[in-house]
Amino acid sequence: MNILIFGPNGSGKGTQGAIVQKKYGVPHIETGVIFRENIKGGTQLGIKAKEFIDKGELVPDEITIPMILSRLKEEDCKDGWLLDGFPRNLSQAEAMYEALQKEHMALDYVIEIELDRMTAKNRIMGRRLCANDNNHPNNIYIDAIKPAEENGKLMCRVCGGELSARADDQDETAIDKRHNIYYDTESGTMAAIHYFKDRVKVIGVDGKPGVKEVSDDLMNKLG
Ligand code: AMP
Repeated sequence: MNILIFGPNGSGKGTQGAIVQKKYGVPHIETGVIFRENIKGGTQLGIKAKEFIDKGELVPDEITIPMILSRLKEEDCKDGWLLDGFPRNLSQAEAMYEALQKEHMALDYVIEIELDRMTAKNRIMGRRLCANDNNHPNNIYIDAIKPAEENGKLMCRVCGGELSARADDQDETAIDKRHNIYYDTESGTMAAIHYFKDRVKVIGVDGKPGVKEVSDDLMNKLG
């Protein structure tokens, strides 16, 4: 099973991706994770990629495309893969589609988690971290996981712990930069999605409801 998953930052793509990964038991390949591992390991690739990642820009296609195409040929991918974070622009989509054709590899599902830009941004900026447990979800913009409040102070809705916001979740410039790439219908990620829509069936799910509703919808559509 070969699957691509798209969704803007803040759409819950990571969460839904993990659910899809479990369903099919294929490796979850995330471009961002590969880059971060290479940066940590101090590899040549990591050193080159870091300069772009630090600026919030895409790593150039000459580096990213061969890296991903060779990753998909590794042993653990022989029964399929779930690719997340690639393609991120039109040229990567074209290269990906051509490589798949050449290798006679099928693209079984393309998933798009749809969410408007304003909501995606609010969700990122609304995230709050619980001091006791990272897995206690709190978000001031999502009704289902709104923090508890006592005497005007927000507290973790699960355990009452202290809440804080992650600095990068509050960096509007960085969020806008990433969303500029995602919502760009000329040459960005949206252009990549349209490219696939013209060639294969893209399964669209509304990312607005809660995690459970979105995953139920997605599982229904995946069949
Ligand atoms: P992510 O964890 O998916 O947000 O990715 C972190 C960073 O890695 C991005 O901001 C980009 O700089 C870089 N990156 C991830 N995927 C790609 C891609 N497909 N093409 C180019 N750069 C990428």
